[in-house]
Amino acid sequence: MKSVESRKVDTVELVKEYLENPVYKEATIVQAEILRSIRKVLDEKGFVELLPVTVSPITDPLNHPHFGTEFEYYGQKYSVTKSMILHKQVAVLVHKKIYIVSPNVRLETEDKMNTGRHLFDFVQIDMEMLEASREEVFDVMEDAIIYTVEKIKEKYPDIIEKYHPTLKTPSKPFKRYTVKELKEKYGDDYEKKASLDVDEPFWMIDIPLMEREFYDKQDPERPEVLLDFDLIYPEGFEEAISGGEREHEYEQIIKRMKLKNTPPEEFEEYLKVAKAGLLKHSAGCGIGVERFTRWILGLDHVENTRLFAKTPGKHSI
Ligand code: ASP
Ligand code: MG
Repeated sequence: MKSVESRKVDTVELVKEYLENPVYKEATIVQAEILRSIRKVLDEKGFVELLPVTVSPITDPLNHPHFGTEFEYYGQKYSVTKSMILHKQVAVLVHKKIYIVSPNVRLETEDKMNTGRHLFDFVQIDMEMLEASREEVFDVMEDAIIYTVEKIKEKYPDIIEKYHPTLKTPSKPFKRYTVKELKEKYGDDYEKKASLDVDEPFWMIDIPLMEREFYDKQDPERPEVLLDFDLIYPEGFEEAISGGEREHEYEQIIKRMKLKNTPPEEFEEYLKVAKAGLLKHSAGCGIGVERFTRWILGLDHVENTRLFAKTPGKHSI
């Protein structure tokens, strides 16, 4: 763990690092192509891109400390967005397929400083599809990932040769493994171990009920698991995507909130919409842009994939 003193950044040194270390230039070229390629695939499939919601009275309950991300404005309480999950459930009622290039702030604690995967301010491409199953989400995201990897290899062969010459374009369909079978095979550290053991991304499905939030749909046939998923990158790069089918019925949402001890008063506005019967079944997910860049380039840390990265526990500009 770095000491408090070493968390401080020397702004001039950091700017020099951006100018002198070619990784920032090359990673941001690749990252721009990731954004272009994913947008192209989603646009061609009929998705509508919406603008991000950066502050809201409703944000994801995801388990991170709030510290100073909440404020009051003319009598309404706001929080900086951790995820637009709840807005996506509403937005798909307007357009059947939507996505947002969405900045999210999750104040991770400093023990996440060196995981290589965490920033406390990151961007995900967050998508949602009305009346869809998780299989339909897999289909869309597999196309987006395959197209993007191919495009980057074709346009920037020198960059790939320099950073990640063994990068393999995944083939469709990606494999699916349940959490149960991964645990049986790899034990407690199954996510890391499975990621190290494979050479293509895979879907990790059937996440146990208590491990996720109230909006992840409980499987009606197997109530101990959720109809949600993560995508796991190969070669030890771990989590790429989280997503799932959604709960949309008021009674079921309340039941799930109780199970997790989620205070319903924090989701009052959301619950009003659910109670009015306006929500419908949908499914979606978010793919982290910095993590995708990190995997494509095989980098140690997501902080090297962008300028002005916000690493947990470190100061930044
Ligand atoms: N965006 C993700 C989803 O759609 C959740 C997350 O932000 O972690 O499920
Ligand atoms: Mg996740």
